[in-house]
Amino acid sequence: MNTNMLQTPITYLKGVGPNRAETLQSELGIATYQDLINLFPNRYIDRTQYYKITHLQRSNADVQVIGKIIHIKTVEQKRGKRLVATFIDETGDMELVWFRGQKWIRENLKLNTPYVVFGRCNWYNGKFSMPHPDMELLADHEKGLKIAMQPVYPSTEKLSNKGITNRVINKMMQQLFLESNGQFSETLSDKILFELQLLSKSESLFNIHFPKNQELLAKAQFRLKFEELFYIQLQLISKKLLRKQKIKGFNFNQVGELFNTFYRDHLPFELTNAQKRVIKEIRADLGSNAQMNRLLQGDVGSGKTIVALMIMLLAIDNGFQACLMAPTEILAQQHYNGIKELLESTGVTCELLTGSVKKSARTPIHEQLENGELHILIGTHAVLEDKVQFKNLGLAIVDEQHRFGVAQRSKLWHKNEVPPHILVMTATPIPRTLAMSLYGDLDISVIDELPPGRKPIKTVHRYDSNRLKVFRFIKDEIKKERQIYVVYPLIQESEALDYKDLMDGYESIVRDFPLPDYQISIVHGKMKPADKDYEMERFVKGETNIMIATTVIEVGVNVPNASVMIIESAERFGLSQLHQLRGRVGRGADQSYCILMTSHKLSSEAKTRLETMVRTNDGFEIAEVDLKLRGPGDLMGTQQSGILNLKIADIVKDNDILKTARHYAIQTLKNDPNLEQPNNLIVRHTYNQLVKHKNIWTYIS
Ligand code: ADP
Ligand code: MG
Repeated sequence: MNTNMLQTPITYLKGVGPNRAETLQSELGIATYQDLINLFPNRYIDRTQYYKITHLQRSNADVQVIGKIIHIKTVEQKRGKRLVATFIDETGDMELVWFRGQKWIRENLKLNTPYVVFGRCNWYNGKFSMPHPDMELLADHEKGLKIAMQPVYPSTEKLSNKGITNRVINKMMQQLFLESNGQFSETLSDKILFELQLLSKSESLFNIHFPKNQELLAKAQFRLKFEELFYIQLQLISKKLLRKQKIKGFNFNQVGELFNTFYRDHLPFELTNAQKRVIKEIRADLGSNAQMNRLLQGDVGSGKTIVALMIMLLAIDNGFQACLMAPTEILAQQHYNGIKELLESTGVTCELLTGSVKKSARTPIHEQLENGELHILIGTHAVLEDKVQFKNLGLAIVDEQHRFGVAQRSKLWHKNEVPPHILVMTATPIPRTLAMSLYGDLDISVIDELPPGRKPIKTVHRYDSNRLKVFRFIKDEIKKERQIYVVYPLIQESEALDYKDLMDGYESIVRDFPLPDYQISIVHGKMKPADKDYEMERFVKGETNIMIATTVIEVGVNVPNASVMIIESAERFGLSQLHQLRGRVGRGADQSYCILMTSHKLSSEAKTRLETMVRTNDGFEIAEVDLKLRGPGDLMGTQQSGILNLKIADIVKDNDILKTARHYAIQTLKNDPNLEQPNNLIVRHTYNQLVKHKNIWTYIS
């Protein structure tokens, strides 16, 4: 079957009518033959194994049992009837249960006749029970072909309610192989097939759906995973090459007066080696005639801001304007304050533009941007408004990128005819594996070194019952003139309750830390921006001792004198969020602490998160654990989770295959950038088909 025929709508497959087609489409996104053939099993079960009822385990696994039904009854429940059959073998008894189709089953099941039942076994009311088992008469079962490894396809409640069981999907797959004679066009080049000793496409598809044995299954999986990752990498890398070739960038060819003077006279500290290296990498991009599209990764507190500032100075040195965009008002404000201070007596002009800047103040900013008087604009997504027009924007820096939507990023891009250079800064350490597949078309720089003199933050886990001890500790720290953060979770689904927790917490802290000895700030999302800023300001200036907040302070806020971070209900936070929060302290030279407060009730996953936090300060290590716990989709936030909807490969587990795929994608494009050589025609054809039918996710420009 060639790639065109594979585009046949699934309704044309024998056994799939319009009804089933609709369910397949809505539940599994299957519209064509191709989609069906690419529905890969989640796992395989061994149907050569039979269990005795006494040997069943309470592990909810799929099992296969031989026995017979000796009794059937209908049980009335509040929530409806169910049909219950007593099923026995020579070792014991169990129940088979049906909630749907009871009449049919009652009429068709034979009593006292040997059956093979197969399904997931639950422990329920002191008995094993198997809801909606797959049933086959033992006599038929013995005649039939016994598949050693039976595929288990993804399923949903709606699918099984509509009768599209695993067995039905299996039948459909058989039908598809029948119609295609099991022949599918090859999609990788001979060279790759030969060098990696891969199974052909047809063999792979056959063995993924009907594995002949373990070894062939493994080979089929390898080939299909490789193929999936190869075409993603091919897309990412060709985009990158295309950008470098075709998208001209402004050439910042000189390191000018501003940069040099700043470096010599205004830099408040010696740059770390990592900062110097990263600035060099960026400078190389800026002088290369191609548009820069670079991701700057650096753990919280690694000093990304100063790098951003120096790069902006380079832009100005070359006659361009620069823009720095932050995800929250508070962060934008803080960047503005910090940068403004550093720019004092340099003659560089800098303004802040956020949602709360008044109209009267905006107009002059708009004017100065258009006539070029304004060099640097710092702001929130307010800078993306159409009214904001630059005279010559040469560089756009985006802080903490995963909070911005992809669309917003590309909007920045289109503010000019020639796109500005783009630097995306993120404090969320992205494991290298993931970065490779997510940002394969971006260049990556890493600040992997913290400024000197920082003491590692001490992290402990305390139960709520120890709160008084924790309060005593806070008092001691305040005596030493340190400041304290207390952070509460705020999750949309439980917003009302979370606000209540926050306010309760606030009251109890106010009771234990009374005026006038203690000053307390509170910041949360329901406050007006102006009030938030006011409270934040008081804390930044050291006028208050304790800052009580929801996660609004998660990103970027910088108060070097704050030395204690208390995270309430820490079990409810994700690992990367905990790490981000912890990064708010440990910014000065003092010993800093992070205290994770929880109740006694902890899930095992929560325990792992807490233990990881206590064990290490290393953002990359934490990101790896996070990735393992949550999977890549979650890690990047819902916005980008679609990107990682891989059909068969697993970004974490298939790291080695990913590297191989990347290597081959690079080699292929290096030798034949337009995929014109005869040997690569297959690759080009497949690639074009994938793009055309959107089977490769469309990636950010
Ligand atoms: P982040 O990477 O989290 O944005 P910042 O840029 O806010 O980090 O820097 C954190 C703190 O470290 C700031 O107070 C900054 O002034 C300071 N800092 C940055 N680089 C250095 C350095 N090379 N030496 C000493 N302090 C530094
Ligand atoms: Mg920052």
